[in-house]
Amino acid sequence: MIPCYTDCMQELQQLILDHLPNKKKVTSKGWIWFNAPCCVHRGHKADNRQRGNLWFGTDATVGYHCFNCGYKWRFNGERLSDAAQDWITWLGVDAEQTRQLKMHLLQQQLQGADTPNTFVRSPVAVHQVTPMPPQAAPFHVWAHDPDPPEKFLQACAYVQHRHMQDWESYDYYWSPDTTHDMCDRVILPFYDQGEIVGWCGRLCVTAKPKQPKYFNSDIPPGYLFNQDQLKKNRKHVIICEGPFDAIACQGVAVMSSQMSDLQIKRILDHDQLPIVLPDRQDRNQQMIDQALAFGWAVSFPDWDADIKDAADARVRYGGIYTITSVLQAATTDAISIGIKRKWIRGF
Ligand SMILES: [Zn+2]
Repeated sequence: MIPCYTDCMQELQQLILDHLPNKKKVTSKGWIWFNAPCCVHRGHKADNRQRGNLWFGTDATVGYHCFNCGYKWRFNGERLSDAAQDWITWLGVDAEQTRQLKMHLLQQQLQGADTPNTFVRSPVAVHQVTPMPPQAAPFHVWAHDPDPPEKFLQACAYVQHRHMQDWESYDYYWSPDTTHDMCDRVILPFYDQGEIVGWCGRLCVTAKPKQPKYFNSDIPPGYLFNQDQLKKNRKHVIICEGPFDAIACQGVAVMSSQMSDLQIKRILDHDQLPIVLPDRQDRNQQMIDQALAFGWAVSFPDWDADIKDAADARVRYGGIYTITSVLQAATTDAISIGIKRKWIRGF
């Protein structure tokens, strides 16, 4: 009997996992980093800084990207590319075993079997994928550099100052590229089921006139920053405006002053009860209006007057207090929301 797609994929994942080097690092996104096997086969120096990056998407995709020689491949569950096949062989998997797997996948395709990607899909599919800025790599990759670039250290200092210093709380990136002052920015990738679908760059130096604080790639329609939080088994989801606030309270960010229809749909597609957390100096209060329209909760936490958002609160009070105070202050009572919103308007 010919194995089905699921068997093939499990077999592929197992083959790879069995042959990965012992020395590896798994990040909070579930990405695996290890010394890349590709570079020496492509005329580059052997990698000894764990620049090979492998990830398994929840929709059965597997991807690889080498931050040393630039080799990459992606397996979408249907066809094993030559690039992937070569790489698997470089990893030390028996060439005959790889060839057989490739053949099984081909047989599946010829028989018109349902592609594996049709059975797990996010409710609002993300269509666009914007490439990362040139030479962008995660913080820990730059940190392995014996002589890290000055501007990378500046980006680290910024993250530390925002109190997001445990890098595990988000996989930040940095790039030496000067287009849009990228080297002066911390890059926050947009993750979707473990895959990067876009990014935003937050300036980490004082802005020059007309220099935007945030520079974003295209935002995929309906995308919410940190939206993988929606998949967690939690009672509530905290909805913020900015990415650092979302990281600070383990919520999601709309990256705008109001939610788009697709973002609202994405939130409604999950079972978590939404709590809107407006910025406290915000004159633009559309998110509160939207929350009132849907009967969602709004939170006005009892923070010191000079704290303007969740990111600030986390610096002063720590992550746990920040989240509990948001939950405790959440209310769906329209009168109470009406009174409290005037306070942030500055009346
Ligand atoms: Zn490589």
